[in-house]
Amino acid sequence: MFQRILVANRGEIALRIIRTCRELGIETVAVFSEADRGASYLDLADEAYCIGGNNSSDSYLMINRIISAAEIGNVQAIHPGYGFLAENAHFAEVCRSCKIEFIGPPHEAMQQLGDKVTARTIARNAKVYTVPGSDGLIENETEALRVAEEIGYPVLVKATAGGGGKGMRVARNNISLKGCLSAAAAEAEKAFNNAGVYLEKYIENPRHVEVQILADHHGNTVHLWERDCTLQRRHQKLVEETPAPNLPKAVREDICKAAIRLVKTSGYANAGTVEFLVDSEYQFYFIEVNARIQVEHPVTEQVTGIDLIEQQLRIAAGEELGFSQRKIPCLGFSIEARINAEDPEHDFRGSPGTITGLKVPGGRGIRFDSHVHAGYRVPPYYDSLIGKLIVHRPTRAEAIRCMKRALEEFCVEGIHTTIPLLKQIFNHSAFIDGNVDTGFIERELL
Ligand code: ADP
Repeated sequence: MFQRILVANRGEIALRIIRTCRELGIETVAVFSEADRGASYLDLADEAYCIGGNNSSDSYLMINRIISAAEIGNVQAIHPGYGFLAENAHFAEVCRSCKIEFIGPPHEAMQQLGDKVTARTIARNAKVYTVPGSDGLIENETEALRVAEEIGYPVLVKATAGGGGKGMRVARNNISLKGCLSAAAAEAEKAFNNAGVYLEKYIENPRHVEVQILADHHGNTVHLWERDCTLQRRHQKLVEETPAPNLPKAVREDICKAAIRLVKTSGYANAGTVEFLVDSEYQFYFIEVNARIQVEHPVTEQVTGIDLIEQQLRIAAGEELGFSQRKIPCLGFSIEARINAEDPEHDFRGSPGTITGLKVPGGRGIRFDSHVHAGYRVPPYYDSLIGKLIVHRPTRAEAIRCMKRALEEFCVEGIHTTIPLLKQIFNHSAFIDGNVDTGFIERELL
């Protein structure tokens, strides 16, 4: 096992990784931007280095500075967390060429799966059903119109390098498709430096179900069940839970097996998530692989009792998985609610500023993963996530009651958060019945 690693991230996930390392006796080197200077989670690392200015392009995305910090800090490995460089295959390659282990998949697998068009081909080769759509990138308008006629409207224009819901547009007819193509390509070029787009059939009112995978370097691949992440706003997740409510047992088994098949054909190792959309007939369609730890990983940890960060470290250090598929439990129900510094009443615009007061819920079945505290200043430069409230109880009904109670206790002063919207969700009969789709929040609650 490693003795010392660098955490190339910030906020709650940096703290989450540092916590597991401390339990395992692994020393940590943290990096921070000017905006994060003095953040209290940095005190829990053994060392911390400033790597640049406020904007992530001047700090958390600066590969050369992170590698320099790793060399000065004399670490054996780098954990990228999620976001920033976590799915940057070039970064993974640079780390390894500097003889620093990258705690994530091999860069070749990351490159192939990170590109959504290539990932669709890998899925089809693994006999995993993909959303009907274009075979590859869309080269021109004529081709797009032809494919759209073939699969039928509505269609979704998606960026091959996409993430965070960016570079995605729904087109309901030929006229809107033309506008969507250029708008999606322009957004993708700006966000990912890659204007490549492809077409998918737009699945109406689906659920989002994803499967957590662990694969070691000795040929063992297991799944840690599924997570339902249907509750989204602007194609970004807000509430995640496991097991997925009302998913027939046979479908659950099939979806988990499909995820394993796909990962096995791609030379993948470490933790990863295979994402699917599920339609009203329970037909599931592969949409993408996230080749990293996910924000919503704690719900899986709660029901399986497995620390996913620890597993990532062990796999990267070359250890064999210490358990077989049959030994992975799924006990009770776990739900995560994302507390974001944003204002749901005003189009979810960011709400940075100082948290003047904070009361965090506690008691049976509650876990709160967060780096914030009263007096903490939420910087305007990064993702708005300030904490993840996670509950774990024997039944889904109890987990919802626990979440409602926790949200009532929760008090954040000084900034706007998603808490009022979360309260509405957990009180809504459709959510309580497990009867929601990805459009639910925008349709029913805004
Ligand atoms: P990103 O990588 O930007 O997060 P994903 O491909 O993971 O994009 O999709 C994010 C969300 O967008 C999905 O959970 C779903 O709500 C919606 N979405 C993606 N593809 C489709 C589709 N073909 N039909 C309907 N909704 C979709």
